[in-house]
Amino acid sequence: MGELTVDRVLVGGAWTRPTGPEIRVLSPSTEEPALRVVDAGPEDIDRAVAAARKAFEQSPWRAMTPRQRADVLLPVADELGRRWAGEIAPAFTQVCGTPTTVAHAFSGGAFGIFADLARTVADFEAEKAVYGVGGRSGIGHPAQLVYEPVGVVAAIAPWNGQLYLTLTKLLPALVAGCTVVAKPSPETAIEATILAEALQAAGIPDGVVNILPGGREAGQRLVSHPDVDLVAFTGSTAAGKAIMASVSSRLARLSLELGGKSAGIVLDDVDTATVAGQLLSGTALMTGQACALLSRILVPRTRQDEIAEAFSAAIGSVPFGDPIDPATMMGPLVNKAGMQHALDLIESGKAEGATLVRGGGRPNGYDRGWYVEPTVFKDVENTMRIAREEVFGPVYAIVAYDTEEQAIAIANDSPFGLAGAVFSTDDARADRVVRSVRAGVMSINGFGLDPGIPFGGYKQSGIGREGGVEGLRMFTEIKAIHRPAAHPLTNGPALAASAH
Ligand code: NAD
Repeated sequence: MGELTVDRVLVGGAWTRPTGPEIRVLSPSTEEPALRVVDAGPEDIDRAVAAARKAFEQSPWRAMTPRQRADVLLPVADELGRRWAGEIAPAFTQVCGTPTTVAHAFSGGAFGIFADLARTVADFEAEKAVYGVGGRSGIGHPAQLVYEPVGVVAAIAPWNGQLYLTLTKLLPALVAGCTVVAKPSPETAIEATILAEALQAAGIPDGVVNILPGGREAGQRLVSHPDVDLVAFTGSTAAGKAIMASVSSRLARLSLELGGKSAGIVLDDVDTATVAGQLLSGTALMTGQACALLSRILVPRTRQDEIAEAFSAAIGSVPFGDPIDPATMMGPLVNKAGMQHALDLIESGKAEGATLVRGGGRPNGYDRGWYVEPTVFKDVENTMRIAREEVFGPVYAIVAYDTEEQAIAIANDSPFGLAGAVFSTDDARADRVVRSVRAGVMSINGFGLDPGIPFGGYKQSGIGREGGVEGLRMFTEIKAIHRPAAHPLTNGPALAASAH
């Protein structure tokens, strides 16, 4: 594939050429031009928000039931399926350096979001009948909880989820009855354009979805727009904090899926070879460029050396190299800045006294491209930068502990709280430790993620959850409708009569 181009955005049901500057993305493996995107300018963002507001107020979308809205959206999965292997996955590999096998496998997660919606919509649709507790009488009256769409949603996603992290916002927001302005990262502009075409083909009314792949300035304009009611954001913690500050003056609703420094806690009863294999799925994915990965591995001090060696051998055996090769499972990092950030943190680990077990720089034989060797440190103190900061690359910090309580304390001694895992042959013990870690997504003896199960973080890893019925409710306001007249003790005429 030569250089790809995206120079159109979907606003108010029409394709237009955006007015922002050009963004050039280089191939992470060859450094050749990979993609040219014309960025969304301020006028494009303003037009998109206006179109979404108008559609929210006037189009039939809001008047439809969640089931009817889901029926419009679910066929979009078929269209994406038709275009995944030939267009979506190859673009992701060319632009983001994601190994081709991984890029193809991402379709599973994307379609999982559609399956999740199909499953949860009935549960979501049910208005809830509730009964109050009453005042002094102790007998409450009946009421109803109605879930109404929150309004215009800004959906902002990073590059590393391909379409997945846009779909986790856009689809539930739409089923809830909202209208959406989506701003995916420029690196995913090809996929975003295909998604926009698929939504249009499905017959979604004009203005209900507006899709403008673009850069940070476009994102800033969007989140600060007074007509945006909710911002659904996935990205770095630094950007999440800036967005929270930006929406605070108007109290816009907010969901934030941010960074992590998740701990894999290896208990002292495990078999070394088994745990080294179990750690792989939570460490190697996306060449370490995924938010929930286990970048800190906590091990019993007496077994640190053997586990470090076994994990190092396991990660070293993962096929590494050219992302185009179907055998490759770990490739280059997304861009030069990402590579330099990882190399900088590797140097900090060396300087702060951690022991290098594997890797430690750029691999031999890769003069072009933003490759970083899979790197394992042991003897890491939890105060070191490699234990505290998100690397977003294949750099793993092994931290030794003496007691189970200390392991839990180390896991919790982090500004982040996104995910984690516990490895043990004793399920009751693993369950106890998992519940002691302050993080939103925990696994036992592996690394579990599922589009139908709520995902999100504690502490500085975010606010809110995506997935499941909780991920749908996020896009609603709750209206409580009281029916006091339906209860004899609390209805007006009865009270008035009893006063005489
Ligand atoms: P990033 O924060 O630089 O950018 C993410 C998106 O936000 C992009 O679309 C960008 O254009 C936009 N953006 C950046 N600053 C903005 C601002 N001030 N206002 C509005 N929009 C803004 O992140 P990235 O480098 O693209 O992605 C990597 C980060 O994303 C990592 O920190 C990773 O942990 C995080 N992430 C989190 C999750 C999760 O679900 N918790 C999932 C994937 C990635």
